[in-house]
Amino acid sequence: MTKPEGKPKVAFYWCASCGGCEEAVVDLAEGILDVVGAVDIVMWPVALDFKRADIEAMPDGSILASFINGAIRTTEQEEMASLLRRKSQLVIAFGACSQLGGIPGLANLYDREGVYRAAYLESPSTENPEGTLPRLRSRENGYDLSLPGFYDTVRALGQVIDVDYAIPGCAPHPKVIQAAVATLLSGELPPKGTVLAPDQAVCEECPRRESKPLDLSISEFKRPHEVIIDEETCLLAQGLLCLGPATRAGCDAACVCGNMPCSGCSGPTSRVLDHGAKAISGIASLIGGDDEEAIDSVLDGIPDPVGTFYRYGLPASLLRRKTLS
Ligand code: SF4
Ligand code: SF4
Repeated sequence: MTKPEGKPKVAFYWCASCGGCEEAVVDLAEGILDVVGAVDIVMWPVALDFKRADIEAMPDGSILASFINGAIRTTEQEEMASLLRRKSQLVIAFGACSQLGGIPGLANLYDREGVYRAAYLESPSTENPEGTLPRLRSRENGYDLSLPGFYDTVRALGQVIDVDYAIPGCAPHPKVIQAAVATLLSGELPPKGTVLAPDQAVCEECPRRESKPLDLSISEFKRPHEVIIDEETCLLAQGLLCLGPATRAGCDAACVCGNMPCSGCSGPTSRVLDHGAKAISGIASLIGGDDEEAIDSVLDGIPDPVGTFYRYGLPASLLRRKTLS
């Protein structure tokens, strides 16, 4: 890594994202002053008025690190990701959407036409009698207008450009962000590809772990609104589908502490290739009995298997998307 003159330059950018990852940076509270004091921010669309041309004018490699959140859905996002890659010594996939494809990646169950149909023609709140759909080029009041292209498939950042590190979570926990930034600024970099969060399961840092039975036999999955949840006992032991055993730690089991099951936003540990597949096999092994009909009825208690096990990582999974004929 080249040592910069003056403060290291850092960029933040967002692609297909909800803005929650930007919020997570602000959630550093007074810790943000340490970050802002240590670096020179050269791009941050949510907060600062730098333009693409400002980045284009910078020498290649002059930005120490670009933190990019959000998945890649449009041509503009791919162009910006490629530009920041060229200008940066390090690129960090920030948050689940960037690392794994995230919630926008669930659109890979459909194609572009299906998404357009749902968003612009069929949703109950849409009034579009002329059936107008987004067009790459159009002319309005004498002006030529253009829109970025909309890809059929949502991709994680690492499927589009070379990525050095990932900061997991939806959104990343402030503690994880702070530790990751400190690591990057220290100059003692971990091996390329490292996910900058503890490489252990959420169960390891869960305050309920002592009540997690060694042998579980689940006969019914319940959803959080269907039961009064005991605040001390392991949620899996209460029949709630908690993905803590298959998910990377670092968040201090924040959801479980809020009496909600872990939904898997920090993705897998380094030993797992496909987070959803790992979670499915782990959960399936907990279903009691060997009567097929009884097992099917237990599985019926999981109403949205893709949205449950691949909520944050369909694009980065082995399957990547649904194939539509
Ligand atoms: S990772 Fe979560 S918080 Fe961040 S952009 Fe995606 S959906 Fe929003
Ligand atoms: S399964 Fe969930 S509730 Fe139980 S110990 Fe693990 S993280 Fe905690």
